[in-house]
Amino acid sequence: MVSPHRTARPWQGEVSRLQNASEPAYDPNCYLCPGNERAGGIRNPAYTGTFVFENDFAALKPNVTGQRLDVENQGLLVAEPEAGVCRVLCFSPRHDLTLSTMESSAIELVVGHWTEQFRELGASELINYVQIFENRGAMMGASNPHPHGQIWATSSIPEAPVKELLAQKNYMKSHGRCVLCDYVDLEARQAQRLVCANDDFVALVPFWAVWPFEILVCSRRHMPSLLDFAPPEGRSLSAILKQVTSTYDKLFAVPFPYSMGFHQAPTDNLDHAEWHFHAHFYPPLLRSATVRKFMVGFELLGTPQRDITPEAAAERLRALSRT
Ligand SMILES: [Zn+2]
Ligand SMILES: [Zn+2]
Ligand SMILES: [Zn+2]
Repeated sequence: MVSPHRTARPWQGEVSRLQNASEPAYDPNCYLCPGNERAGGIRNPAYTGTFVFENDFAALKPNVTGQRLDVENQGLLVAEPEAGVCRVLCFSPRHDLTLSTMESSAIELVVGHWTEQFRELGASELINYVQIFENRGAMMGASNPHPHGQIWATSSIPEAPVKELLAQKNYMKSHGRCVLCDYVDLEARQAQRLVCANDDFVALVPFWAVWPFEILVCSRRHMPSLLDFAPPEGRSLSAILKQVTSTYDKLFAVPFPYSMGFHQAPTDNLDHAEWHFHAHFYPPLLRSATVRKFMVGFELLGTPQRDITPEAAAERLRALSRT
């Protein structure tokens, strides 16, 4: 549901406080900076590039015991053990950098590590799905401004990718083509929701976006995961991630908060010819650095609603991406 006339309404609701804009290059109290101590007395190495470690407070563990639960065998209260792995990947030793301010070549190293993590975790018998993501900004629950992302690998395929898996399979079955290949072609012809693009990737505000400045980054070529990338595509992905995040930072002249993540083919040893690599950016801000969008009321109980059209959001972002 799109209701652009609503943006005129007065706002007396929550105005979030701005976070400190400038961070030091090294923070002695940061648990992700090189050489610093983490929870439980573990010390980070004096890393100079990227650094990956098992999350000290992992939501998922590889060794789970217990059995499927079905209370009174009614099929109503059902639970199953979920094995998995949670890792943290520091993008840079510099505490004060972000994907938007890092050199493209440094982001390329991050893409390389994402690929290796996806390969290693996905190869495990235990792991059928690998979710790579980044929460940026206190508004999105990021506990630390140090540039880092997370990798959660699970034995079952989570809800959002399961929906996409079925949608991609169904479209391929009925059309004989890939839904995202067709979608990207259509958006390229329409052009009004495009934000920026390069040789290998397109960034656009999706037609169905629910967050005001939501962005979908899609590969131009049909490929299921990072493992199918040719070297120029890794470079192009780094470039478009930098372009999208720095465009966001220009929008309200602040480090823009978001949740970002890749949707890639499940690692369940089945053929996933239907899967098309893409990334979602879900940012919460609506009108300024401090006024966010809330998913409440009708949106929780009925259906999501937008105050600005995807076309208007794309137009603003597109203009900023060129500056
Ligand atoms: Zn740090
Ligand atoms: Zn495709
Ligand atoms: Zn997706």
